[in-house]
Amino acid sequence: MFVVMAPGAGEAEILGVKSTILGEGLTPYDHVANGRTVIAVIGDIGARRPALIERLGGLGGVATVTPINRPFKLASREFHPDDTVIRGLDAVIGDGSLTVMAGPCSVESQAQLFATADAVAAAGATVLRGGAFKPRTSPYSFQGLGVEALRDLADARERTGLPVITEVMEPSQVDIVAEYADILQVGTRNMQNFSLLMAVGRVARPVMLKRGFSATVEEWLMAAEYIISSGNPNVILCERGIRTFETYTRNTLDLAAVPVLRRLTHLPVIVDPSHATGKRWLVEPLAIGGIAVGADGVMVEVHPDPDKALSDAEQQLTFDQFRAMMAEIVPVHEHLRSTYAGPAGDAGLAASGAPVGSAELARH
Ligand code: PEP
Ligand code: MN
Repeated sequence: MFVVMAPGAGEAEILGVKSTILGEGLTPYDHVANGRTVIAVIGDIGARRPALIERLGGLGGVATVTPINRPFKLASREFHPDDTVIRGLDAVIGDGSLTVMAGPCSVESQAQLFATADAVAAAGATVLRGGAFKPRTSPYSFQGLGVEALRDLADARERTGLPVITEVMEPSQVDIVAEYADILQVGTRNMQNFSLLMAVGRVARPVMLKRGFSATVEEWLMAAEYIISSGNPNVILCERGIRTFETYTRNTLDLAAVPVLRRLTHLPVIVDPSHATGKRWLVEPLAIGGIAVGADGVMVEVHPDPDKALSDAEQQLTFDQFRAMMAEIVPVHEHLRSTYAGPAGDAGLAASGAPVGSAELARH
């Protein structure tokens, strides 16, 4: 449930609500929406619900107490109607601008990374990606260069000005990865690694949470809830394909998940057509598709000589292919912006998809 304070509620009244929640062994989590403080009640409320609603509703400065009808609370649009906007260096994600995360699957050498970083930056990428710790299906495959790759990524950031994103595979790596990277990535295989989710929830870096390849949208949002409830509200969701009976493509890109997420959550959404398809020639059409259904951006793999790549050789784009993809997706994004941007401003597609808009929240 969440408590909506009256427009003029003062600090003492807000504290009164929070201490009542804490006194119940629950956690208050607040933010300001439309000039009002909204406080979520997080924890196992159980049978106390009716009594607690009544008690909180009777406190000074409280306008309404509203149940959240979904298992995810902090990630829900009901609690947080406005889109979450995430900032890292010059990159802004979720404000209606186009986010393009690009770079090699794995950092293989400084020269390979710098050449790719220069090429994608010149073509309009907004975030540089590169794997340092690689989750590989086979223990005999290239596992990544580790800390050496983190240093190269930090140097590539100096060179290009682009913030960097890289995967963190286990809780013990979180501090070192957060030291070098601007955005931490949790990969598909770790979407329900709850100790990792809580660990990335405790650092001051945005986290991009990739969808588990067998995860439902609800399981995915519950995984995001772990990160937010651990203290980190800056979560980005990345649809990267799910496993179905189809084997022609590496995974099946669930494009419907994008507008579904727009409706259910305020978090930014990125589409990864590289891991979704596993095939270079399918990346551009599905990047266009991702933007067309309202994603905030794409993540794609780019390599100076894809056929010689040490990982995911078949799906990495050449520099020319990346430039061609950019030339296609930028106008699609521009078109959708002008089509959907309404009085709600930069919320873009979300403005048409959110079931509980700001005005509706204010009416409760
Ligand atoms: C990656 O982006 O480097 C990666 C391994 O992706 P995923 O977790 O989606 O397979
Ligand atoms: Mn890859």
